[in-house]
Amino acid sequence: MSKPFHGIEEIMADFDLIVIGAGSGGMATARRAAEYGQRVAVVESARLGGTCVNVGCVPKKVMWYAASLAHGLEEAADYGFDLTVHGHDWARLKAGRDAYVKRLNGIYQRNLDKSQVQLIQGHARFTDPHTVEVAGERYSAKRFLIAVGGYPARPSIPGGELGITSDGFFEMEALPKRIAVVGSGYIAVELAGMLQSLGAKVSLVVRRDGVLRGFDESLRQRLMHQMAEDGIKLVTEFVPCEAQQDDEGFHLSAEDGRALGPFDELLWAIGRHPATDALGLDTTAVKRDEKGFILVDDWQATEQDHIFAVGDVTGRWPLTPVAIAAGRRLADRLYGGQADRRLDYHTIPTVVFSHPPIGTVGLTEAEARAAEGAEAVTVYEGGFVPMYYALGERKPKGLCKLVCVGPEERVVGAHVIGMGADEMMQGFAVAVRMGATKADFDDTVAIHPTTAEELVTLR
Ligand code: FAD
Ligand code: NDP
Repeated sequence: MSKPFHGIEEIMADFDLIVIGAGSGGMATARRAAEYGQRVAVVESARLGGTCVNVGCVPKKVMWYAASLAHGLEEAADYGFDLTVHGHDWARLKAGRDAYVKRLNGIYQRNLDKSQVQLIQGHARFTDPHTVEVAGERYSAKRFLIAVGGYPARPSIPGGELGITSDGFFEMEALPKRIAVVGSGYIAVELAGMLQSLGAKVSLVVRRDGVLRGFDESLRQRLMHQMAEDGIKLVTEFVPCEAQQDDEGFHLSAEDGRALGPFDELLWAIGRHPATDALGLDTTAVKRDEKGFILVDDWQATEQDHIFAVGDVTGRWPLTPVAIAAGRRLADRLYGGQADRRLDYHTIPTVVFSHPPIGTVGLTEAEARAAEGAEAVTVYEGGFVPMYYALGERKPKGLCKLVCVGPEERVVGAHVIGMGADEMMQGFAVAVRMGATKADFDDTVAIHPTTAEELVTLR
């Protein structure tokens, strides 16, 4: 089945395509469309590269490496190194990280130039379905792509404006001694792990029974256990109703009367809102859901024929490679003559950069049981301690799990927590996507000694 086109080519306009937002999805789509010979402009109100490059994946991963090194320094003694560590220079780390991000901003600019995509700097707002206004100028296009991403949420409670979000985390000039991280998703877990590893005393405050709801239960439990071992204080069932700041620091109150604090910093990591409020969408037929995410069909198409949306703003799998893949496929379809090209949102692999990391693809055990019926599901699970920890006291235990369905035991989910899970999952995702069975895993000769071999030796 392919998506029909609607007489768009007849319209006179400044551009064939205007992309709003030069983040992961917008940049990828703009450049791919330009490769097909289209006249493309991209509008950006802030720095090139969007969330991922400036306040997301990239600076986050730098911090994760720093945190991993902190662990490594402790473990170095087990390998015979006699090290004296004289502390950690946060300012130096931040300066290096910021410089790297700046370099990437420059590379993005050069990529736009190379692709002959015009950059229009400023905030775009629709004035009618074929026109956007940016810094007082109006630009028309035959088609538009909305790739405006989102921004971190704050709670609507008294004091919700206090403290920082993940954006503020990347501006911090020093490591806080005591910090409360509120939230239970990717960002809360990742930032809590980094802060604790680098020397802060972290309280991770979640409103339900634990972190990473929606991830496989075995992995969640393993991670929470390891977090506690590493000194993170996990505060569960704490529904914040007020935040306060006084001379001692930040304080949090819960609906059930419990109180936490004082903290030197308070970080909200409770999700992200789509940046659609000031886009002038009411002048178009584009529809949003109750949270403001743009409604698109399987072809990234909105209710307005010539306006499309990709990435976080659609609320589907808010990950950088997903935004890029959806955007490139859209350009292939609209301009590359590939009428059936679109992103399949099933079997998307993902990694949580916790300590240890989580790598996962496909259905959790609970999802598989709900979708296929409990009796159709077979689960293989095993714990392990990576050999790296063999010589020391600290032994973060890993776990891997295959979720299989049917008599042929097709692997519909692969889940790993443990050192190296982040790098290993990409390859296993290919296998799961191709429909590999448990027998295919078993028939694959292991690579020894690695952590990855655990997945092909499960019994
Ligand atoms: P964005 O990258 O957010 O880009 C949107 C752009 O649009 C922005 O530059 C914005 O300034 C611009 N804009 C908004 N409104 C307008 C307007 N009206 N006019 C002009 N410009 C506008 N994903 C991963 O895959 N791996 C990770 O490790 C990872 N880590 C993350 C860590 C953190 C702390 C955060 C916050 C996110 C992380 N993500 C990660 C998610 C990832 O960053 C996003 O999924 C991705 O950036 C979404 O891309 P996008 O193109 O949809 O939007
Ligand atoms: P998430 O949506 O992942 O998690 C936020 C969680 O916070 C919610 O699921 C909810 O969990 C909890 N929460 C919501 N409101 C409140 C509240 N008022 N008080 C307390 N807790 C609350 O959002 P994140 O901000 O962590 O990340 C946004 C997205 O960015 C992620 O979904 C991910 O796609 C992407 N990302 C990807 C990364 C990666 O690939 N490694 C890293 C970082 C981000 P509950 O209902 O269980 O309480």
